[in-house]
Amino acid sequence: MAIDDKVSRSIKCDNTKCTKEITFNPQNQEEVAALPDWLRTLRSVHLGNGQKFFYCSDECEVEGVTTGNHNVPEPTKIQAANAADVKKAVVEAKIAEAMKTQPAGKGPILVKG
Ligand SMILES: [Zn+2]
Repeated sequence: MAIDDKVSRSIKCDNTKCTKEITFNPQNQEEVAALPDWLRTLRSVHLGNGQKFFYCSDECEVEGVTTGNHNVPEPTKIQAANAADVKKAVVEAKIAEAMKTQPAGKGPILVKG
């Protein structure tokens, strides 16, 4: 029994509603010559996070965009402080300032060396 390693390439449209998919040997001229027309319009979408999507046509690419396939989770946005936040910050600053003040009657602790 001989060992027969076969090389094959599979391409599938990433639109979940699309059934376009093909597996072929890229080194086999006959199989390459018989590839379907939709492979000519195949396009890839590369995201900043390294994800890749392949679509067979404009329609499938639009479907991928409109279904949120490409959406990378957005970083949390910094929101402007509201009045309650400002009030809380002022109170915390007053508490921090009060903690720095020495209690009455007790002087600073001096360390003589
Ligand atoms: Zn497709």
